[in-house]
Amino acid sequence: MTSLGALRRPPSLWLKGVAGVGAVRGSASVPGMVPRPQGTRRLSRCPVCVGWNRVGPLGHAGSWEGEPSAPNGREHQLCLCWILPCQPAIAMGVPVFILAGLLVHCVFLVSIFDIYFSSPLVHGMTPHQTPLPPPAKRLVLFVADGLRADSLYELNSNNRPQAPYLRAILENNGSWGISHTRVPTESRPGHVALIAGFYEDVSAVAKGWKENPVEFDSVFNQSKYTWSWGSPDILPMFAKGATGDHVYTFCYTAESEDFGAQDAAKLDTWVFDHVKSFFNSSRSNQTLFSALNEDKVVLFLHLLGIDTNGHAHRPYSREYKENIKVVDDGVKEIASMIENFYGNDGKTAFILTSDHGMTDWGSHGAGHPSETLTPLIVWGAGVNYPQKVTSQFFEDNFLREWKLENLKRLDVNQADIAPLMASLIGVPFPLNSVGTLPLEYLNNSAHFKAESMFTNAVQILEQFKVKMHQKKETTLSFLFTPFKPLSDSEQINFLKKTRLYIQQHKYDEAVSLCKTLINLALEGLSYYHTYDRLFLGLSIAMGFVGWTTYVILVIIKTHTNLTKTVQANNKESTVLFYAFTIVGMIIAFFLLIQARPWTYYVYCLLPVPVWYAVVRELPVIQDLAANLLSLHISQCIGFLLVSTLGIEILVFSFFYRSTLTIGLLIFAGWPVITQLWVQAKTTALIWTLLCVLLAVFPLMPVVGREPNIPLVIATGLLTLLISCFSLACCCRSENKHRSNEELKVYFYQMLSITLSTYVVSSTHDSLKNKQGLPVLNQIISWMTLASSSVLPLLSSTFLFQRLFSILLSLMSTYLLLSTGYEALFPLVLSGLMFVWINMEQEALQHYGLSVKPKLAVFNFAYATDITQFRQLHLDDVRRSFFFVFFIVTAFFGTGNIASVNSFDPASVYCFLTVFSPFMMGGLLVLKVVIPFVLVSCAFEAVQVTTQLSSKSLFLIVLVISDIMALHFFFLVKDYGSWLDIGTSISHYVLVMSLTIFMMLMNGLAQLLTTKRLELPRRTKHHST
Ligand SMILES: [Zn+2]
Ligand SMILES: [Zn+2]
Repeated sequence: MTSLGALRRPPSLWLKGVAGVGAVRGSASVPGMVPRPQGTRRLSRCPVCVGWNRVGPLGHAGSWEGEPSAPNGREHQLCLCWILPCQPAIAMGVPVFILAGLLVHCVFLVSIFDIYFSSPLVHGMTPHQTPLPPPAKRLVLFVADGLRADSLYELNSNNRPQAPYLRAILENNGSWGISHTRVPTESRPGHVALIAGFYEDVSAVAKGWKENPVEFDSVFNQSKYTWSWGSPDILPMFAKGATGDHVYTFCYTAESEDFGAQDAAKLDTWVFDHVKSFFNSSRSNQTLFSALNEDKVVLFLHLLGIDTNGHAHRPYSREYKENIKVVDDGVKEIASMIENFYGNDGKTAFILTSDHGMTDWGSHGAGHPSETLTPLIVWGAGVNYPQKVTSQFFEDNFLREWKLENLKRLDVNQADIAPLMASLIGVPFPLNSVGTLPLEYLNNSAHFKAESMFTNAVQILEQFKVKMHQKKETTLSFLFTPFKPLSDSEQINFLKKTRLYIQQHKYDEAVSLCKTLINLALEGLSYYHTYDRLFLGLSIAMGFVGWTTYVILVIIKTHTNLTKTVQANNKESTVLFYAFTIVGMIIAFFLLIQARPWTYYVYCLLPVPVWYAVVRELPVIQDLAANLLSLHISQCIGFLLVSTLGIEILVFSFFYRSTLTIGLLIFAGWPVITQLWVQAKTTALIWTLLCVLLAVFPLMPVVGREPNIPLVIATGLLTLLISCFSLACCCRSENKHRSNEELKVYFYQMLSITLSTYVVSSTHDSLKNKQGLPVLNQIISWMTLASSSVLPLLSSTFLFQRLFSILLSLMSTYLLLSTGYEALFPLVLSGLMFVWINMEQEALQHYGLSVKPKLAVFNFAYATDITQFRQLHLDDVRRSFFFVFFIVTAFFGTGNIASVNSFDPASVYCFLTVFSPFMMGGLLVLKVVIPFVLVSCAFEAVQVTTQLSSKSLFLIVLVISDIMALHFFFLVKDYGSWLDIGTSISHYVLVMSLTIFMMLMNGLAQLLTTKRLELPRRTKHHST
C-alpha cells in the first residue's frame, strides 16, 4: 500500500518541534551507526521493515553511534512502518500482528455458524406407528407450488370460484383450511415441512440447499412405494434421502424447463399427462400393476406452473389465475382416473396444498401473510366431510370474502400435514417430524384418534430423549442441567396416564394429555438444541473483548505518552506464561473428557493467548490506571458515556437509518459544545448548516422508489454553478498556482458535468417516449466513466484544488447513475467534508497541538515526505469516530443493504438497457462506492494536515469496528425470513470487514490525492 511505502521513506524534512516532539533528518543506511542529531530524540530503524523509527517517550530503539544498544533487546520500540512495536517486548512483529488479527477475526466470523446455525435434527429414534388399521391404502398429494390461499378460495368477479372442482370438493366431500407455513417461504423448506414434518433449519443456509444438507426421514421414505412427478429441483431430495429403492421420480430436465417459457402452465400439463400415461402403461406391466395395488402407496404431483407464472406475471395476472384453472381441471381428471383405476374402492385419500404463497409483486421468502398462508384441501378415504357451522371466529376477514362462513375452516401448521398423511395410510410418522396430527381432518373412531395422537406424542418424545441423551453424554454430570418439566419420571408418568385413559375409553382426556406432552417435548428439544449457546457465546465474547483490549493497549503504549517506561520482568513473565498454559490445558482437558467437536477447542482456547497478551501488558494498564485516577472522575465517565453513545448510534443506524440523523444533529452542535465556534464563527456556522442538511438524507425513502429526473438535472446545474464560482475565486486569488494545463483539466471536468446532466435528461426523455437509449448518450456515459478516474490525477496537487477536482469527476459519474434526490447526496457530503478539513485545523489549534498551517497552499505531493507524526491525543479518538460515522453515513445515507439487493435497474439506464446482471451489479457497486471515496479522500486530507499517522488511526477504527462487531454478534438471528437472517449475517460480516475495507479505501484515496500525471507539455517551466 502506498501509505506504507510513504512512511518507510527516511525522513527528508527537518521539522523540529512542530508538534512538540523532535524530529530528525536521517541519511545513513546502517542501523545503529548514525550520529544522533543535536536536540533530537533517538532514531532507529525498525528491524522488520528497515524503515526509520521515531522513538516515543518509552523509547530505546536500536542505537545511535556511541550509545549502548538496548539491553537484551526487550524494550519497547516504535516503528513507523506499522503501528506496532517490532521488538520482542510485545512479541509480535507486523506480520504476526496481521496474522493474529486475521485469525481472531476468522474464528469470530465462522463461530456464528456453530453457535446459531447448527442442525437441530437427531438420529437413532425408533419409528412409531398407530396400531389400528388405517383408513386409506394410498394417498395422492398435489402440491401447487406458490399457490396463495386467497387465490384459490376467493370468488372471481362473476362470483364464480377460481377452481370449480376444488370448491365443490370442500363444499361437498372434504375438509379444508389454511396451512400456515414458516419463514423462509421457499420451495425446499416448504416441501420438507410438508413431507418430512419439520421446519428445515438455517444450517442449510451454510450448505447452499442444493443437496440434502442433513439426512432426514419422510413420509415417502416410510411408504411402501412413492411415485412422484414434477420439478428436478424438488423431487430428487426425497428420493435421495430414502433408504432402499422405493421412491421413484419423473422429472422434466432442468434444461427442458424452457418448454414452459411461453406458458408455464405447460409444466403442470406435463405432470398430468405423464401420470395418465403411467397408469395406462401399468395395465400392460404386471409388476407395476401389483405394486400400484399395494398398501401404503403415495403418488406425489409437484405442479410448478403457478409459481413460475406468479414470478413472471404476479398473482393478480390473468396467467396466474388461468394456471389455477388448469390445475383444477388436472386434479379433477387425475382424481377420477385414479378412482376408476382402483374400481372406486374408497381407499384413496387426496390432499391438495402448496409449499408457500406469493406476494402481490411476485416474490416469496419472507413472512408476509400472502406468503405464509397456503390452502389445504383434503378428501377421500378417512377424511371428514364438510362440517356446517353457524359461526366461527378467525382474526382475518377471509371467510366472508370467500363466502365460506358456514363451512368449518380447519387451520394447521405446515408440518402437521406430514403426520396427517402418515396416519391416513398407516405408516410410521417421519422420525424428525415435529407436527401435531390435525385430528379434525380425520373421519375415524375416537379410539383411532387417541391411539394416533399417542403415537404422535411418543414419536416426538423419542426425539427429545435422544437429544437429551446426546447432551448428557457430552456434558460432565455436575455441569448438566436437565430440562426440568420433562424429567424421566415425568415422562413415564405421562405415558402411563395416557395408556390408562385409552384403556378406560377416556379418549378426550388422552388426547389433551398427549398434546401437553408434545408441547413439552418440543420445548425441551429447543432447550437442548441451544444448550451450549450461552457458553460458546461467552467464550467468543471473551476472545473479542480480549482482542479489543489488546489493541487499545497497543495504541496507548505506542502512540501516546500516557505510560512511562516499564522494564519487563523476566521472572514474572515466565510465571505468567506457565499460568496461562496451565489454564489452557485445563480447558482442553475439560473439552476432551466431554468429547466436544474440535471447533469448540478453537472457540474456548482462543481467549487464552489473547488474554495472555493483555495480561503481559499489565504494567501499561497500571500506568494507565494511575494516569486515569489523576483525571477527574466526571471527565472519565463523560468520555465513556460519549463513546458508548457514539457506538450505539452507529449500531442502531444499521437497523434504523434515521439514527444517523440524530448523530448528524449532534455533530451539528459539536462546535458549540467544544467552544470551537468562538475562534472560527463562519466555518462553524457552515459546518452546522451542512450537518443539518445532510441529516435530511437518512430520513428520505430508500433510493429508486420515485424517480425524479428534474432534481438530478438541477443538481448537475448546481454543481456547474459551484465550480464556476470556485474557478473564479481561484483565478482571482492564486494565479501563480494555475497553469494552462490545469485550467484545461478544469474545463474538461465542467464539460463532463454538463454532458452528464444533458445525457441524464435526454436518456430518460427518450426512454419515456419508448425510443430506447440513444447510442450517442451511451458513448458519452461510458467515456465520462472512463475519464473520471483519470482527470483528477491531471489536476494540481494543492489540497483544495485536488479534492475539488476529485469531487467534480465523481459527481459526473454519479449524476449518470442517479434517478432522484440521491444525486444531491455526494454534493452535500463533500461540502461537509471540505468544512470538516477546516474544522479539524481549528480543533488542532484549539487543543494547542499545532500551529495552524495554511491549508490553501498545502500540497498533497509533499505531504507524504513528512515523517513527523505527533502523539495521539484524546481528540483523535473523536477524529476516527467522525471518519467511521461518515463512512456509515455514506453507506446508509441514501439506502441500505436491502436496497443493494432489491436494486433499481433504472439507475443504470444511461449505460445499458439490456439486462446484464454482472454489468448492472458492477455499476451499482460503483454508485455505492463513490460517497466512500469522497469521505476517504477528505479523511486522507485530515490525516496529513493534522500530522497523524494513518496507522494509529486505523487501530482506533479497528477498536470501534470490533466493538460494533461484538454487538452484531449477539444480534445474529437464526429465525425469521431469508432476508432477516441474511441481513443479520451481512451486518456482522460488514462490520468485521470494515477495517479491511477502510484500508483499501485509504489506499485508493492516497493514490487519488498524491499521484499526478503530467500531460505532455509544449512549454516547459511554465508553472512553478
Ligand atoms: Zn415453491
Ligand atoms: Zn418460487
